Amino acid sequence: MKIAFLGLGNMGLPMALNLIKAGYFVSGFDLVKGQMDALKAAGGSPVNSAIEAVGDAQIVITMLPASRHVEDLYLGESGLLMIVQPQTLLIDCSTISPEVSRKIEALARVRGLSMIDAPVSGGTAGAQAGSLTFMVGGAVNDVEKARPLLEKMGKNIFHAGTSGSGQTVKVCNNMLLGIQMLGTSEALKLGISNGVNPQVLSEIMMQSSGRNWVLELYNPCPGVMENVPSSKNYVGGFGVDLMLKDLSLAVENAQELEVSVRLGLLAKELYAMHSSAGNGQLDFSSIFNLPEN
Ligand code: NAD
Repeated sequence: MKIAFLGLGNMGLPMALNLIKAGYFVSGFDLVKGQMDALKAAGGSPVNSAIEAVGDAQIVITMLPASRHVEDLYLGESGLLMIVQPQTLLIDCSTISPEVSRKIEALARVRGLSMIDAPVSGGTAGAQAGSLTFMVGGAVNDVEKARPLLEKMGKNIFHAGTSGSGQTVKVCNNMLLGIQMLGTSEALKLGISNGVNPQVLSEIMMQSSGRNWVLELYNPCPGVMENVPSSKNYVGGFGVDLMLKDLSLAVENAQELEVSVRLGLLAKELYAMHSSAGNGQLDFSSIFNLPEN
């Protein structure tokens, strides 16, 4: 089976490498030559354009930065929807707007093509280890067709519902994570200001009703937990700008649907402020250091 992999960045390249390791023929394209060289070194087949990559592929996977890149590639000048062979399964793993995802899928369907949205969680470490979580939206048959392939790149493959549902789940999850990180940081800072040891405070809250994923696995206060970004000067992990991107998607989606996400909006503003102060590349738990005023 020939796979065209478009977008070989921090996530796409290690995902493509896992497919090559599993024995698939992967033809890839990225705008950055160094990424194509890395694909070649691992046994993949770099080509000169997206159009060339999808030529006789049965599966097309896209892992691009944002909605506009995905829209451009499928509907714009390259117009992949008009070029790919009938029967090709399109899998978009980028994190994009659920609306845009549904729009592209509907146009693909008009052309007789199948498309699923399959954004991921697990970061670059998960992409390298092949342990990503996929949140998938689309028709059951298409999801089942993609499953063996997704299992080579991930550990958990969840079918969330119809087209766009994968993106919706991703956006909801990351909005909650962003809010949870802010809330946990505030609780910790209040405790510390009262003279309570943050490690003791964290331990007690973890056994009480404030328990959450951030406290359990990703404490934002330096020194409370080993091997988390807060104890490594907030280097590595999940960047402030990536969290800001996901919060923006959540807020835009809520506005389109006229749903109120007041905390999501506030979280977006706070991460934007933090990013503007030059912290965009730090891990998102660095929001713990957002100045008081
Ligand atoms: P990245 O910027 O490292 O990679 C994107 C790649 O796409 C770049 O190499 C770029 O050159 C390439 N590209 C852009 N336009 C292209 C085109 N027209 N044709 C071919 N290649 C093109 O980003 P990333 O970290 O790999 O993230 C990819 C997606 O995964 C994003 O939507 C992101 O939100 C999501 N995501 C990232 C993480 C993470 O931890 N990095 C975690 C989960 C989800």
